[in-house]
Amino acid sequence: MSKAQPWHKQLHWRIIIGLILGLVYGVVAANMGWGKFTETWISPFGKIFMNLLKLIAVPLVLTSLVTGVASLSDTKKLSRMGGKTIGLYVGTTAIAVTIGLLIVNIMNPGKGIPDDLRKQLESAYASDVEARVEVADEVKQRSPIQPLVDMVPDNFFNSASSNRSMLQMVFVSLLLGIALIKIKPNKSKPVLAVFEGLMDTVIELVNMIMLLAPIGVFALLADTITGLAKDDPSQVMELLSGLGMYCITVVLGLFIHACIVYPTLFRVFTPMKLKRFFVGIAPAQLMAFSTSSSGATLPVTMDCAEKRLGVSDEVSSFVLPLGATINMDGTALYQAVAAVFIAQVVGIELTIANQLTIVLTAVLASIGTAAVPGAGIIMLVIILEAVGVPSAGIALILGVDRILDMLRTVCNVTGDATVATVIASSEGQLGESKEA
Ligand code: ASP
Repeated sequence: MSKAQPWHKQLHWRIIIGLILGLVYGVVAANMGWGKFTETWISPFGKIFMNLLKLIAVPLVLTSLVTGVASLSDTKKLSRMGGKTIGLYVGTTAIAVTIGLLIVNIMNPGKGIPDDLRKQLESAYASDVEARVEVADEVKQRSPIQPLVDMVPDNFFNSASSNRSMLQMVFVSLLLGIALIKIKPNKSKPVLAVFEGLMDTVIELVNMIMLLAPIGVFALLADTITGLAKDDPSQVMELLSGLGMYCITVVLGLFIHACIVYPTLFRVFTPMKLKRFFVGIAPAQLMAFSTSSSGATLPVTMDCAEKRLGVSDEVSSFVLPLGATINMDGTALYQAVAAVFIAQVVGIELTIANQLTIVLTAVLASIGTAAVPGAGIIMLVIILEAVGVPSAGIALILGVDRILDMLRTVCNVTGDATVATVIASSEGQLGESKEA
């Protein structure tokens, strides 16, 4: 371990302070009716911080993946690592859905919802539902192998210009890296040197942006709370108490997944102590909580994995961008709980076959969910329709979705980092942390 820094200089403490201050300010502002002031003068700083994180996501993926792949001696190693990564991603997501289903069937949160609350929620969120169902319909109309087609861009700059096309960027970077392995070293060397120099520059940018993290997190939290409360906090409290059992079920499921499944993987496959993992990944978790976006958190996740967990650059630059795009354990678990909850409220009995359909569609839907705030609820529409539950049912849970989004994004990011650590260990590429 390297020299210890004073606590107030440590990244996770600085983020925690920003987060707590943001929470406190948000609650005060909501009670005092400072929503407009917050929106005008505080929220923009959160937006600037989010934009900076998103700004470096594409260059980070491109440079780190190209250099990572090109440093592999052969393509066999790449396909072995790729196979293990996808296997672990899909396996952990299937476990997450199963946990979600078990827990929702045990707790039955939808059975106690009074009829008047149901009607009230359905009418309050009817217009919000429409927009989401429309987007989900577009997704549904595509062929089942459309995601494969979507992965292959027809223009490099088009995919580099959108953070939503991260999977395309991963694909292009892999191809570039493989081609660089194949050409003559005297030709590939100068190209690689450029990518390596660029990657170091991008990493320095991450460090610079993280200096703003406390302010950014403060503004994001303040904005989320005042946005939710809309100057009437009693409304949020009412919603939370009405949907309390549902929220508890999701949170409990996420907790079980993060505190039992991931630690078991660690124990079986890595020599890493759990405490080291959770302290190391804390800044990324806090960032995921504040931004509700695993895409925007990616630069921080990579930074934590490499510097604090000791995952090699080669593994982190391959496993993490892929994970941020396709691995969403928290989202899948939440989708399973939400689907059964809505079915229970509207009085539809789900058979075992229906529940198996949920496992399959939730795993697929979570892969297709974009790594941005609120994407999970759009894909939920597809799951609901697959089991014959009216999609308008999402009105029931929209009011508390932002809060659950923050938590499931933490689980998503933790899952990515877990798999990166397990793969690094299995490849003999898990070293000491480079930071306290
Ligand atoms: N916000 C989540 C993420 O970016 C996706 C979701 O809405 O579940 O990881």
